Order: sequence, then C-alpha cells, then structure tokens
Amino acid sequence: VIEISGLHKAFGSLEVLRGIDLTVERGDVVCIIGPSGSGKSTLLRCVNLLEQPDSGKVVVDGTELTDPDVDIDKARRRLGMVFQSFNLFNHLTVLDNLTIAQRKVLGRSRDEAERIAKQNLEKVGLAGRERSMPSQLSGGQQQRAAIARALSMDPQVMLFDEPTSALDPELVGDVLGVMRALADEGMTMLVVTHEMQFAREVADTVLFMDGGVVVEQGPPAQVIGAPTQERTRTFLARVL
Ligand code: ATP
Ligand code: MG
Repeated sequence: VIEISGLHKAFGSLEVLRGIDLTVERGDVVCIIGPSGSGKSTLLRCVNLLEQPDSGKVVVDGTELTDPDVDIDKARRRLGMVFQSFNLFNHLTVLDNLTIAQRKVLGRSRDEAERIAKQNLEKVGLAGRERSMPSQLSGGQQQRAAIARALSMDPQVMLFDEPTSALDPELVGDVLGVMRALADEGMTMLVVTHEMQFAREVADTVLFMDGGVVVEQGPPAQVIGAPTQERTRTFLARVL
C-alpha cells in the first residue's frame, strides 16, 4: 500500500535522507527506530508530503504523491498522522476536534460526523468525553483523542511519530494499547518509536535508520533480537 523508492531529502547542505527504499504491505506494521537526527521524522513527513522530497518516489495506494500533477490535499487524506505533541485544537471540545475536518474536508453532515467521532472515541476508550476540552484531559487521553480524530477521516494508513514520547510513563501503556488494537484490526501503520517492547511485539518489520539510510530491516526477532550490523547493536545497547 506504500512504496517509497530512492527518497532523498536535504536541508541546505545537510543530507537527511540519502536514498530510502521501503515497501509496506496492507495491514503491516512497520516500526522505525534509530538515533536522534537519523531522519525518522523527516521520512514520515516525506510520506505525507509535509516535506517535499528532493528526489525519489512515494506511492500510496496506487497514487504517486510525488507526481507534481497529483491533487496533494486529496491524496493526503489517505494518511492519518499522529505526532508527539497531541496538537488538538485547544479552544474546541473533543467532539468538535473530531468533527471539524470530517465536515470541512470530507463534507460529512454534522450528524454523520458526530456518529463517526463517537464510534472512534469509544474505540480509544474515551466514550463520554465528547464535551470535554483538551485541557481537561490527561496527556494520554489527549493523544488517544488525536488518534480518534485521525481515524475519523478513514485513513488507509496511519503514521505515528513518537506518539508516546511526551507522556508520563504511567500514561504510555494506554496509548500503546490503542495502537496495538488498531494493528490487530489490520490497520497499516508506520510508527517511529523508542518503545522496543511494542516494536518487538507488534511490528511485522523493524527498520533501523542511521545517518539517513536504512541500515538494517527485517522482522523484530532479527533486527532487535539478532542484529547483524554493528551500528544497530550499538544503538540497541543504549536503548534496551
Ligand atoms: P529524533 O529522534 O530526535 O526525533 P529524527 O530521526 O526524527 O530525530 P529528523 O527530525 O528527521 O530526525 O531530523 C534529521 C536531521 O534533519 C536533524 O539533524 C535535524 O536537525 C534536521 N532537520 C529536520 N527538519 C529540518 C528543517 N525543517 N530544517 C532544517 N533542518 C532540519
Ligand atoms: Mg523525530
């Protein structure tokens, strides 16, 4: 469902992505690990064209997003994104956060948007919190609301960039639980994470990035359990 080939991205003279190739099959969970500055966030941002790649191709569900003629706003709707900072609209209720894009972008009626929002709030364990303001929720609840908001747009693929890094340790588990349930339902997911336990248990493929290249990739038992590359071993020794 996602095909990335020969992806390059530089910021000035800093080459952040130096030729990334990656294929993600429908229903797969791919976890991306690697040291700070290795280009993980940039890769994710290139997948939904929040960053314009310098060269290379990104194809999602048969549409080449890197084709200059493609309607990028439309194509981007196939991708849901969840960031480290929950970026809900703080002046809107949880329900309005979940319905605004459904109504404005997808043209759904208020009733339909609210019905879908409520289904997704229930899915992430926030049934009954429709009228809350984001500031009345814990960080973990806000992040789960952000996931529910992304799901309400019916994405084909969910992109997560360190969704639990900003959370107090006791709130991490609930968010990972929601992500695990999504994976079990067959959602295609690309997840940048430092949660090695999650990667081990949930990922179909783990990608270790360093210096803008994929150093090693394969099933978690291989990449985390028995890495062949020295750089992967050094990284894992620091985080495990
Ligand atoms: P972390 O684990 O710290 O989130 P990362 O692997 O996600 O790191 P990126 O955020 O992709 O790394 O950044 C890779 C490099 O690109 C870093 O050196 C960063 O400073 C640089 N970079 C990222 N975005 C920009 C930008 N918009 N302008 C200039 N440099 C940038
Ligand atoms: Mg990052």
